[in-house]
Amino acid sequence: MCDEATASPPCEEPRTPGDGASHRMDLRVQNGFSVDVEDWYQGFPSIPPASWTDYECRLAVGLERTLDLLAEFGTIATFFILGYNAERYPHLVRMIDQQGHELATHGYDHCSLFQQSPKQFRDQLRRSTDAIENASGTRVVGHRAPYFSMAQTTQWALDILIEEGFTYDSSIYGTTDAPVGHASAHGNSGPRPPRSSMIMVMNASAS
Ligand SMILES: [Zn+2]
Repeated sequence: MCDEATASPPCEEPRTPGDGASHRMDLRVQNGFSVDVEDWYQGFPSIPPASWTDYECRLAVGLERTLDLLAEFGTIATFFILGYNAERYPHLVRMIDQQGHELATHGYDHCSLFQQSPKQFRDQLRRSTDAIENASGTRVVGHRAPYFSMAQTTQWALDILIEEGFTYDSSIYGTTDAPVGHASAHGNSGPRPPRSSMIMVMNASAS
């Protein structure tokens, strides 16, 4: 990850009863900024990929504004890119890469892990990664599942990510088997409130 890091001053550990003395722990907090590179209609399960060409593409407009803001404030981010978009707009992938940001994959066509078999996931992962790498010449080692759908029943995907040489996953929002956002599409009552996501480091020795 190459997200912008802001070092905080060392935090003082709270006194514990009977401790008798306080001591300091050198805890540093890293703040990360990440972007999912998907168009406005690509995050709705009710709009399948087969109909995406019916909608106006606004990807470049939002992306260029985001890149301008990041440049203005000197911030480096991680961009999780749909393979579908990398195939169609490789110049946008290069634009992100040339500004020093990290390229990662957000799957191929924003299909939830709950709706994929392990084989489908591996195939889409490879297709997405190939599209990003072919556009940029930069190796992809990070993954974020659409709808943050890495959950208890989809953890088989972590094994595939390791087998495919990925070093981290950024898809875990909790321990439930419900995806985040658009939950009604999966039989749940509604979107869940945002929570902090977890970065799973899987293969730190990979290069
Ligand atoms: Zn997404």
